[in-house]
Amino acid sequence: DSFDNMGLDEDLLRGIYAFGFERPSAIQSRAIKPVIAGRDVIAQAQSGTGKTATFSISILQKIDVSETKPQALVLAPTRELALQIRKVMESLGDFRGVKVHACIGGTRVVDDQQAFEKGVHVVVGTPGRVFDMIDRKIFTTSKVKLFALDEADEMLSRGFKDSIYDVFQLLPVDVQVVLLSATMPADVLDVTGKFMRDPLRILV
Ligand code: AMP
Repeated sequence: DSFDNMGLDEDLLRGIYAFGFERPSAIQSRAIKPVIAGRDVIAQAQSGTGKTATFSISILQKIDVSETKPQALVLAPTRELALQIRKVMESLGDFRGVKVHACIGGTRVVDDQQAFEKGVHVVVGTPGRVFDMIDRKIFTTSKVKLFALDEADEMLSRGFKDSIYDVFQLLPVDVQVVLLSATMPADVLDVTGKFMRDPLRILV
């Protein structure tokens, strides 16, 4: 299997190889193409499987860099994970010129404000802060076409259920949803049932 025959943008492909990846991991082989094609996907995957690059590559392929409003939103359970995802996406998307902003607690609101004013293609953040930025009309969600929830089980066990539901309510109704979770407890299944349409299920 190869990244070459996934129909990826040339600059994104350069970013993938420059990052040091040679061939797709199992989850990447199975999930990237369906996500790019627009399907909702549930991936039951642990850390270490290449899950971050799976949704990152799919999102980066779908970004229109000429549009300066955010087109994708990734939620993560911790600031550290959000920053880590941001770093991976910035590296992979470097040649495409994709701007990724981390929207996390403990930073100044004016910094978020300035970032959004300059233009952001992808927002990666923790649920509470992301909801706050949308609520204050600093983060405009009208162009968001893809919503990814990373480590959904962790987010729910950390008490982010209400924030996640609140954020979802403020996204366009036809938003594509990708959910990654190591485990599938009832509260995660509730989210998949409420947010997702005919999802493809991938277990790695
Ligand atoms: P994750 O499952 O996202 O936590 O990724 C685990 C590790 O695998 C990270 O260090 C990634 O950089 C690495 N990785 C992800 N995809 C690939 C790939 N296709 N080839 C080599 N390493 C990869």
